[in-house]
Amino acid sequence: MTDRYCVFGNPIKHSKSPLIHGEFARQTQQPMTYTAVLAPEDGFTDAWRAFVAGGGRGANVTVPFKGDAFALCDTLSYRAKRAQAVNTLIVGGNGRTYGDTTDGIGLVRDLAYHRVPLAGKRVLVLGAGGAVRGILEPLLAEKPSEVVVANRTVAKAEQLAEAFVDLGRIYGGGFASVKGPFDVVINGTSASLSGELPPLPETLFGEGAWAYDMMYGAEPTVFLQWAGPRGAKLLDGLGMLVEQAAESFFAWRNVRPETASVRTLLRQSLNY
Ligand code: NDP
Repeated sequence: MTDRYCVFGNPIKHSKSPLIHGEFARQTQQPMTYTAVLAPEDGFTDAWRAFVAGGGRGANVTVPFKGDAFALCDTLSYRAKRAQAVNTLIVGGNGRTYGDTTDGIGLVRDLAYHRVPLAGKRVLVLGAGGAVRGILEPLLAEKPSEVVVANRTVAKAEQLAEAFVDLGRIYGGGFASVKGPFDVVINGTSASLSGELPPLPETLFGEGAWAYDMMYGAEPTVFLQWAGPRGAKLLDGLGMLVEQAAESFFAWRNVRPETASVRTLLRQSLNY
């Protein structure tokens, strides 16, 4: 029997998730399909219910529906509660909906894959939107010496730091108050989408520091282009995408797929 999964988003045409999960399913010989579903902006809950009524077993959820998915779940994982967002829906045996978020663990796994140390390190996170909220719990669980969240709208960074202060040393502020050096700088703003760069000091990176942009594409982002000549080692968000998918796949199928070959495949697909 073939189980059905999908990703809901709007827009969804450019999603790489069907390619990734198709590869995971092939590799692990799981009897499943995975498709991309365009849900109307005000019709996510109906689209999900129709999918489940048609035999759907689970789904990924992307922009702009992660909050809607959070709201409809019967049960939530601890990390989904902290993130206030859900990117993975699972239909339980009793028909109840379980929600999880795998974006943050995807980032941490990607950093581990590239042997980027976090324990005892000073980490700067740029941005205070949904993506950043989703990474803070798994990031703080790695015990960095401190996490600084800097955002254009300063109050949002301060509120995020306040919301996670029970999990470790975390501070929020504006870009102007950022003082390097940092060991790891993660760009979680959407500034890269419009080719913009947050205003950052020249002395941001410490010796051997890493610059990570959660965005990915065929070309390095403006942030990575800026960070390279300033001595940082560079990573984009492609590995995070693959690792968050692997964690969702594991939640659905209880099988952990291998990610290295899928990273290579995806990188190749970006260059066409
Ligand atoms: P949100 O819209 O929730 O937040 C956007 C953030 O970017 C806000 O903090 C906003 O600041 C800031 N921002 C936007 N434009 C600028 C600018 N010109 N200069 C400085 N700051 C700016 O978006 P998300 O949090 O959902 O997504 C952020 C990024 O993360 C996107 O690029 C997305 O593609 C990426 N992402 C990658 C994933 C992966 O798997 N690789 C997974 C999830 C997200 P303000 O609060 O002041 O408006």
